[in-house]
Amino acid sequence: MMDITELTVHELQEKLKNKELTVTEITESYVNKINEKEKDVGAFITTLTDEAISKSKEIQEKIEKGEITGELAGIPIGIKDNICIKDTKTTCASKMLENFVSPYNATVIEKLKEENLINLGKLNMDEFAMGGSTEYSYFKKTKNPWNLNKVPGGSSGGSAAAVASNMVPWALGSDTGGSIRQPASFCGVVGLKPTYGLVSRYGLVAFASSLDQIGPITKDVTDSAMLLNLIAGHDEKDTTSEDMPKKDYTKALKNDVRGLKIGIPKEFFGEGINEEVKQVLENTIQEYKNLGAEVEEFSLDVAQYSLATYYIIACAEASSNLGRFDGIRYGYRTPEFKNLKELYKKSRSEGFGEEVKRRIILGTYVLSSGYYDAYYKKAQQVRTLVMNEFNKAFEKYDVILTPTSPTVAFDIGSKSDNPLEMYLADICTVSVNIAGLPGISIPVGVDKKGMPIGMQLIGNKFQEETILNAAYTMEQKIKFRENHKA
Ligand code: GLN
Repeated sequence: MMDITELTVHELQEKLKNKELTVTEITESYVNKINEKEKDVGAFITTLTDEAISKSKEIQEKIEKGEITGELAGIPIGIKDNICIKDTKTTCASKMLENFVSPYNATVIEKLKEENLINLGKLNMDEFAMGGSTEYSYFKKTKNPWNLNKVPGGSSGGSAAAVASNMVPWALGSDTGGSIRQPASFCGVVGLKPTYGLVSRYGLVAFASSLDQIGPITKDVTDSAMLLNLIAGHDEKDTTSEDMPKKDYTKALKNDVRGLKIGIPKEFFGEGINEEVKQVLENTIQEYKNLGAEVEEFSLDVAQYSLATYYIIACAEASSNLGRFDGIRYGYRTPEFKNLKELYKKSRSEGFGEEVKRRIILGTYVLSSGYYDAYYKKAQQVRTLVMNEFNKAFEKYDVILTPTSPTVAFDIGSKSDNPLEMYLADICTVSVNIAGLPGISIPVGVDKKGMPIGMQLIGNKFQEETILNAAYTMEQKIKFRENHKA
């Protein structure tokens, strides 16, 4: 018998259209899958399965009566737990927000609601999206569905693991320095970080506002383009969102890369990149050449400073953004305190986890008057250099190709006590956020132990169509999903 949850969203959509499946059948299959897999994988912070089933009946009825015509009506989805859903807990995987119920919907959620998608639940993450393994969640550690001893990546590890284990057909994540692309790579699924400003951040709990973007985590590139269609667009509630004409990203999927100019920055294939990852990426580059793309190596020299720049800017912005969690306006309040200062101090000490506190301290330090010029100002200057270097590269190339991560998914517990090592794992993804560019990760192979390896394609600003088509073309060629299973 066909397992409905193995299907992509465009396949589900086809079956809904042909009346081979009902919305309720689809939703029930996912609920059954959650009941079967969640105890091992641990991808959810909140499940909304009962609500989803009743919603599915309501939507099915409306479809039958012709009251709903939307093409994605009744398709389920999972949402990272830093995206606000009205009357639903939004915890950011933190004790600070353990009982916080959002009074409003994020703009992306409004958009999904208008299309009548069905929300299956809120997905696990590193606390406040700070981390790369989902081990920094206050609630639980999510496991990698390909090997339960490995991390799913992070910070959107719950989203990637839920898609990889078929508990949701697709999900939303957020990406500040790689948090969509890296977990997608570790879990063998597709993750897209849109250009800064393409998707509204209204209702996304801020980590580092100049870097954060919401984006799709999906089973394939077609689904990625479809979900981007749903969430992209100007929003007057987010003044950093661009006002530009709406596009249909699925139209860009042409399965043709002839003449496409691909740049390979040699710094991303050097020291620290695992040999098997390198080998699989080199095979993929050869495939692109076979498909008629023009491939050239070049130097993206300033990339070596990206990681330091990222951690200074991200921590600085985080320390400011997280100032609002003071025990008064939001979230956790310490039960006992003698005065206002102690209320702040104890609420924040008890409410935040280690990694979040480390970043607040780091961020406060680099912003302090004595060190501002040496660290924060310098980082902003280097940020401009990184942008300039990418601009120069995009005069020559349509797409830049790199590994998504220097390694495959690592063992649970192997880096969580060593923050610097965890930070180093972000080396391939952070420059994309620093420059505000779009980046996509797709699975292109597995290592000898069967763990997925991801390729990252970076595009120029608002050139999502170019990277989606390049990713789609490779996906059609290597057929990862047909050949490998979690
Ligand atoms: N791993 C990176 C960090 O810890 C990226 C996080 C993210 O993109 N949200 O900051």
